[in-house]
This record gives sequence, C-alpha cells and structure tokens, in this order.
Amino acid sequence: MTTEALIEKIRQLAPAEYNSIIVDNAVTIKKHIYGYINASVQRVEYRTQRISAAIDGELKSAIEQITSNNGDRYVRFPSRIIELMKEAPAYSSESFFSSMKNKMSEMINGGREVDHHHITLTMENGNIAKQQPCFAIREECSVMNCPKCEGSGYIEQTNSNGVSEKVQCPDCKGRGIVGKLTFFTPNLVERQASIIRCLTGNIEGLKFNIEADGATINGTSYKIHLGERRRMLIHVGGQDTEDFDSDILPYLDFVRDKVGDDNAIEDYFYYMLPCYSFTYRNVITSELHLGLLVDPERQPALILNLEGSGKKLVSSVKDSFKSIGNFFGSISRSNGFKDKEDLRRTLRLLIAVAVADGIVGEEEKKTLTLAIRGMEQFTGNEQEALVQCLGNSDASFLTKEDFSFNRPENAKETIVRMQEMAEADNNVHEAEREIIERLKLSI
Ligand SMILES: [Zn+2]
Repeated sequence: MTTEALIEKIRQLAPAEYNSIIVDNAVTIKKHIYGYINASVQRVEYRTQRISAAIDGELKSAIEQITSNNGDRYVRFPSRIIELMKEAPAYSSESFFSSMKNKMSEMINGGREVDHHHITLTMENGNIAKQQPCFAIREECSVMNCPKCEGSGYIEQTNSNGVSEKVQCPDCKGRGIVGKLTFFTPNLVERQASIIRCLTGNIEGLKFNIEADGATINGTSYKIHLGERRRMLIHVGGQDTEDFDSDILPYLDFVRDKVGDDNAIEDYFYYMLPCYSFTYRNVITSELHLGLLVDPERQPALILNLEGSGKKLVSSVKDSFKSIGNFFGSISRSNGFKDKEDLRRTLRLLIAVAVADGIVGEEEKKTLTLAIRGMEQFTGNEQEALVQCLGNSDASFLTKEDFSFNRPENAKETIVRMQEMAEADNNVHEAEREIIERLKLSI
C-alpha cells in the first residue's frame, strides 16, 4: 500500500474528513492481518452410569448378551433395559464390585477413556445425531447368583419361637440373581465460537464486534461475507481426517481454547482481513491520530481517530512530523485555494520562508516533494518547477509576480500561514519577516 493509494482511498471513503487530513509520507503504513475464524464443532461427551439390581429372567438374558459379546468393549443395547434395571429391586452390596473396576469406571466418566473414534455413533445427514444408542461397557457388566442366598432366593433363619424357617433373601428380594449394568449414552454437544485476532499483535483501541451477518469495527459497520463452512476435522465413525486450510492453522490453538480440543467434527468459516494502519494529522486541531484502512481490495472501510491512539503517537512520531508538511497539505485541499495561480504563489512563498529559515532538511524536502507531487491541480511540469524551488538556499527566487494575488483573502491566508511557519521554531528570521512584510504591503 503506497501513501498515494492510501490517500486516494481516504478521499473516496471519507470525503468529508479528507480536507482536514494529512497523511505524513515519512510514516510507514503498517499491514496487519486480522484472522476471523468461526468454528462450529460437534463433540461427544460420555457420562458413565452404573445400576445394580436383583434381576429376573429377561434382564439376566439381556446382560448376559452384553457380557458374552467377546469382540467389542462397548456393546449397544436397548435403552428399555435401563428402565427395567431402575424398576428392579436395588442391590447395593459394595462387595459386588472390585476396586479395580470401580476405578476404571471413574476414568471413563467424562469421556477421557472413551474414544468416540471407536464407537459407531448414529449419524444424520453427515452430522452426529442428537439421539444416540446406549453403550454398555462389557467388562463392567455382570450377572451372578446372589452371594447371600447363593441363588435360591431364600435364607434360613430362626423365628421367635426357636423354629428354623425359610424367608425371602433380603439382598435379592427373592430373585436369587443380581446383575450389574455399566453404560453410557453419548451426548452430543454442539458449540460455536469466533475469534478475531492479529498474529503480529492486536492494534490497541481497535474493537471488533462480530455479528451473525457482519461486524462493526469501532462503530463502523463492516460486512464480513460469510461463505460456506468447510469440514476440516472428522474423528468419527471410523474416519480420521484433518484437512485444515493453511490460513487457519496458526489460529487453531486460540479456537480450541474456546471450543475444546477433543471434537469429533469441526467445521470452519474464516475471513482474512488485511488492515493498514497509518498516522495522520488533523490540520484543524493539529492533533496526531491513528487511522486504519480495512480490507481495501474487497470491501474497504476507513476508521479514523482510533480511540486512545492520539497521546501515544504524539510522543513516538512527533519529531518526524514537521509543521511545514501540514501547511502544504491543508492549503492544497482548502476550498479557498481553488485559484491555481494563487495556490502556486502561496506555495512558492511558503517554500521561500522555509528555505530562508533553514529548517528544510532532507527529510522535510522529501515530504514536501511528495506533497507537491500529490497536488492534482498542477501538471507534472508545474509540480517539478515547485519542487525545484526547494533547492534554493534563500528567497531570491521570488519575483514580483509571487506577491500579486488574484484574491486578497488568499494573500491574507498565506500571511497567516507564513507567520505560523516562521514562528514554528520560535525564532523569526529577518529574511522571513521581510517576505511577510512585502506581502502585507501588496494587499
Ligand atoms: Zn439373595
């Protein structure tokens, strides 16, 4: 991005502010790429539950069917079995479980040990279905005879009359068989998250507010064209695909901070937003500000006066800004100077004051040269003639013609500008005073 291209964009995007803005050529335009990444993820969470109960024939065969399945660690079973287990008499003997198996179940809780990659989830139009079957953890399911009654359902006890009698087993409520069912139901969690970030450092004072159909950037409405999402990660149903666009990769850690990193499916939309920051001076207030040109090629937006930027900038680039550059810019854009001949007179007089003062260094010459070459009122030859004046070491190049303004108000304006410039170094030279007095007399 050249300064000329930037200035042209400012003219197009902010015609009202354009006249009061001077972009200093000496200040570099810095490119920042903001990545807007929107992720939509599907993840599967598992919460293990365990029910133990005294069971009847139907439950016995259902659990036996699970435990006899030698191939899979996780076995699908009908959800009706859970309801039947809940309705059956609870069996709560702790000795039923080995401590090792308890531990295993705790590990599975929260999904840390369950790898959804190895579970055949129910899919729906390429996405994980909300309704998923129940999976039993085979190694943690069992059927056995009630240890108390040894499967008979009855125990012998002596009644108050000293007579031995058979009564229903209190542990298994007379069923004789106890069963343990450890299972989980995959729970689909869908999340969406957006980040917008500049990898080379965010610009202070820049606030993005991303909405569904666009964004506002520091209050300026900006359209982010939401294209089609693309599936870049699939870890489900036996598929193991990671196919990230290279643009997204540097931002992945930031995205995963928000959406988690154990997702089964990740879909992405992203938009890379080039921004160009630059400093400019408001010639009316003389204040230095930070401006930002957003996405100049596709959908340009201009943000001026980035909040809080002023103070910080003044201390950092103050010295590179010479007031002389401001005079040129403001004059060439001012409505009062539509008269090209008067504008040329003003510029020649200002150059004369500048060179007479000796304040025109190489840096300022460069700035002024570029400012002159940016003045569309003049032809290339006319611009060159003005640039040549900068090579003088005194005001002797001025002619009588330079003091004969067509419009007196332009002469008055020029006097004010010359006085300002002369006073800029707190020391008005004799040569400067002479030029100013001469112009005053000509009005
Ligand atoms: Zn029993």
